[in-house]
Amino acid sequence: MDKAIRDKYTAVIGLEVHAQLLTKTKIYNSDSAEYGSLPNTNISVITLGHPGTLPKLNKRVVEYAIKMGLACNCDISRVQIFDRKNYFYPDLPKGYQLTQDRTPICMKGFVRVSPRNGEPRDIHLNRIHIEEDAGKSIHLDGEKDTLVDFNRAGVPLIEIVTEPDIRTSDEAYSFLTEVRRLVRYLDICDGNMEEGSLRCDANISIMPKGSKTFGKKVEVKNMNSIRNVQRAIDHEIERQILAVENGEEIFSETRTFDANTGTTSGMRTKEELNDYRYFPDPDLSPLHVTKEWLKSIEESMPSLPQELFEKYVKEFNLPEYDAQVLTDMKEIALYFEDLCSKTTNYKAASNWVMGPVKSYLNDQNLQIEELPVTTGRLAELIQLVDDNKVSFSVASQKIFSEMIKQKGSMSALETAELLNLVQDSDSDAISVLVDEVVAEFPDKVAAYKKGNKGLLGMFMGEVMKRSNGKVNPKVANELLRTKLS
Ligand code: ADP
Ligand code: MG
Repeated sequence: MDKAIRDKYTAVIGLEVHAQLLTKTKIYNSDSAEYGSLPNTNISVITLGHPGTLPKLNKRVVEYAIKMGLACNCDISRVQIFDRKNYFYPDLPKGYQLTQDRTPICMKGFVRVSPRNGEPRDIHLNRIHIEEDAGKSIHLDGEKDTLVDFNRAGVPLIEIVTEPDIRTSDEAYSFLTEVRRLVRYLDICDGNMEEGSLRCDANISIMPKGSKTFGKKVEVKNMNSIRNVQRAIDHEIERQILAVENGEEIFSETRTFDANTGTTSGMRTKEELNDYRYFPDPDLSPLHVTKEWLKSIEESMPSLPQELFEKYVKEFNLPEYDAQVLTDMKEIALYFEDLCSKTTNYKAASNWVMGPVKSYLNDQNLQIEELPVTTGRLAELIQLVDDNKVSFSVASQKIFSEMIKQKGSMSALETAELLNLVQDSDSDAISVLVDEVVAEFPDKVAAYKKGNKGLLGMFMGEVMKRSNGKVNPKVANELLRTKLS
């Protein structure tokens, strides 16, 4: 699209993110919430909403939702009711969905994002509420009937609703990346968009640059990766601009994204307003979150990526780049945290984790939990380098892989000794070699003394050769300089 035309408009974006909570059982009964079971095996009469059954709220669901709220700086509602949202759909066995319409568990709050091509910004949240998932309709190829699988009905969800605060697809991308990182750090959702445990609907409108009045929004569904949310937003902004430029009007509708073409197409208009007839569920009593309960949840909060980032930059004096890489994945951050309780050479620890550790994991396609070198063993190796017993390059190229092979059964020093790689830092022993070399090349010594300082490298080379590369270069260098001057 022509940049001049694009620049006439500002996009306004609000996201609605559903996260499936990692509880063992469903939100209102003890049916398994496991993903991937055989169809219709996790369905009791309560899931199916048979007459006479009563729901009972899963406490874990509330705790997980509150954790997310705390991580997003929200106010936590102390009294909540659950509402029935009534509609008919084949995958909804009860004929209504239990949700929180008027008393969402978390209100307001914000998520800080750092988009690649923009300034860090706070994206404000409208709310986070608890609700239950619906079942699934299945349309098999060549089958004219629709099949339904109710396993997913009643699996707990939280829905995170942003204010229309987002202005670019980059910001939306960063927001979702951060939300995924948070749910994974909190261990409340696996964050897998491909399998649908994290889902995002994007609301998009455009307005003339400088305007304060938002345009009519279009809701786009069915993006199964963060990247596809970004693509859908980019496409939708262009589509709306072109329409307006052509004198057409944008109307509120729901559109679906096609990942193959990168385009959106209309599903249904929002003209006829849905009447969900929300009302408080008479079978569930209002939920009271006591001060004590809230406090115990607060106390169980793990360190969050932003906190760790700041600690690494401010306390450990690491570059922001390092802090970013180290906190990107919870498991890596936990390993690094543990490593830093065993060494105070934080920069070396960071270099090890970002370098040899990560490349080994990548090469072998392993998770860090599967790394045979414990943080204790790696801390020993860092110490060995700091003590000049081995160089970093020998440590990372030879000793580390041997330690992996030994599955951590040997200390770093034992491994270095096994490979005969311990550097000699003992100046007496090195001194003998230096003397030998100096005695062997009297002409070169004379030339050095006349000013050909470049010969130092040749002397070093000789000392190294005689020691099989095991002397500490720093010590050897100093001894040579003194002997030659
Ligand atoms: P609805 O009543 O259609 O559900 P809401 O006001 O509840 O609309 O908002 C749903 C989502 O749409 C929120 O994420 C909100 O930020 C976003 N949104 C609201 N108005 C706009 C707009 N004009 N343009 C883009 N997004 C919007
Ligand atoms: Mg709404």
